[in-house]
Amino acid sequence: MVQHKRYNKLLKRLKVGVFVVIVVAVVGYMYWDVELNPSSSTAQTAGGLEKTLVLGTDPGFKPFEYKQGQQTVGFDIDLAREIAKDTNRSLQIEEIAFDGLLPALQAGRIDLIAAGMTVTSERKQNAEFSNSYYTATQKVIVPKVGSVVVGIEDLAGKRIGVQLGTTGDTLAREINGAKVVQLQSTSSVMQELNSRRIDAAIMDNGPASQYLVTNPGLTMLSRNLSREEYAIAIRKGNTKLLKEVNDSIAKMKRDGRYDALVKKYFGAAKL
Ligand code: GLN
Repeated sequence: MVQHKRYNKLLKRLKVGVFVVIVVAVVGYMYWDVELNPSSSTAQTAGGLEKTLVLGTDPGFKPFEYKQGQQTVGFDIDLAREIAKDTNRSLQIEEIAFDGLLPALQAGRIDLIAAGMTVTSERKQNAEFSNSYYTATQKVIVPKVGSVVVGIEDLAGKRIGVQLGTTGDTLAREINGAKVVQLQSTSSVMQELNSRRIDAAIMDNGPASQYLVTNPGLTMLSRNLSREEYAIAIRKGNTKLLKEVNDSIAKMKRDGRYDALVKKYFGAAKL
């Protein structure tokens, strides 16, 4: 009888003990994930609770980011996918117009930007930038026949189309007397040029070359307006993610994944 009572007491204590351990484990895990791991958002996915990297990009910038049917694809998208893999996260893509990307990053809506974004001193005040992953140039696109702009010096006083908030936009506004037409997307810039509502367009060499393939009536000036470096933008102060991104890019350059990407989107192993 006494034995039995003791046994019951022991069982009760054991149950309470197990319960306490479970509660501590669950609360501890939640605390760790929410408080100690702020760089990664968590999202409910089919596989359960898992870390997600939210990428902000503007798909209208072939071959870096563009639509293939419903899908968003491109050099930057693949690069971000590899970064997500290297850091054990799943990738979620948010489409945002180029000039809204940095504000979205600052507001915490996205974790990083991969959008052919050039590193500038102005942008560096509002975001961290990874090491460079691509060197680009700014090109001037004009009609093949009857263009009023034949050389870079002819741009003064002309109507120049640019994508709003880009480095091409900044460059155009520095040109003497230029009437800068700022548009939301590179495709609207090309539309304006094709219908001759602007005299020239300024944009990055990547998408410029892509547009020339499908617009045989246009050409680009051989001289570059500038040389720029693309990098991944990360929220100011998020040095943990910055290091993870830099480590991942360095690893990709070492193990051949980076060269494979260049080959896939530019058709050559080296730039
Ligand atoms: N490289 C340019 C910039 O950073 C354009 C980028 C873009 O239009 N996606 O402003």
